[in-house]
Amino acid sequence: MYIDSHAHLEGKRFDSDRGEMLARAKEAGIEAILAIGIGDGPGTLDCAIKLAEQQDSGIPHLEKHEMWGTPSFPQQPRLYATVGIHPHEAGLAKESDYEELAKLAEHPKVIAWGEIGLDYYYDHSPRDVQKNVFVRQMEMAKTAKLPIVIHCRPSDNSEDAWDDCLDLIRDQWSGSGLGGILHCFTGTWPHAKRALDMGFMISFAGNMTFPKAQQIRDAAAQVPLERVLIETDSPFLAPVPHRGKRNEPAFVAEVARQLGELRGVSQEEAGLLTAQNFYRFFSLPENANSI
Ligand SMILES: [Zn+2]
Ligand SMILES: [Zn+2]
Repeated sequence: MYIDSHAHLEGKRFDSDRGEMLARAKEAGIEAILAIGIGDGPGTLDCAIKLAEQQDSGIPHLEKHEMWGTPSFPQQPRLYATVGIHPHEAGLAKESDYEELAKLAEHPKVIAWGEIGLDYYYDHSPRDVQKNVFVRQMEMAKTAKLPIVIHCRPSDNSEDAWDDCLDLIRDQWSGSGLGGILHCFTGTWPHAKRALDMGFMISFAGNMTFPKAQQIRDAAAQVPLERVLIETDSPFLAPVPHRGKRNEPAFVAEVARQLGELRGVSQEEAGLLTAQNFYRFFSLPENANSI
């Protein structure tokens, strides 16, 4: 049993076989997926909610038929959703987008706010804007009583974004008691430790399986097992042996295999442990058919 705690399922790369892809995930033992709702930025912030809603209605809405390939796939992992503006699109955020986010955050399928944070690698938005949009969304997540999903990527050979990100979380968020997830963790153990001390879960992705990713494996070997999650970040970052291909939630089993190797447990145990961590962190019933 596995949970993919971070996947982007709404994009064009899944348009031709979204239903089959989700069926493959179920077949591979993926019980639930946290669908990230950043979309392409403002204008698409309801994308993950829509997917989760379609699933609940059983048969896809007719006008959405083309999003699913063949209609009606009852055998799918349960979908939960997030909403938020990614640091890449921070520069596009308008007042009306924040108003929309506040409304979307009340949807029963939404269990977290994100992914939000800082990306100094691409710098698609100016850093001061990224910080402002990050802080504003932390305030909104507090009001909505939702944990946050953090995206943090420093510039090359630097820890700049980690220091800024963790400082902002300390100043603006740690008092909320709501915690969050450092998604696709690529930092060092001291970064993980700072976040753990502020109530965060650490989520590892397929890049943990890459030969050069020793720093990530070193951190994954130390994070207390009850604070670890696993994810695919689909359609990006496919793990070995699928590296270079489109990633999909079924491949989260490979992340579990790598985590298991590092921690001396089986792939299945790593899956079960991280699934239980997910349910506990979000206070979700383990065998709910819906929420
Ligand atoms: Zn990310
Ligand atoms: Zn992501």
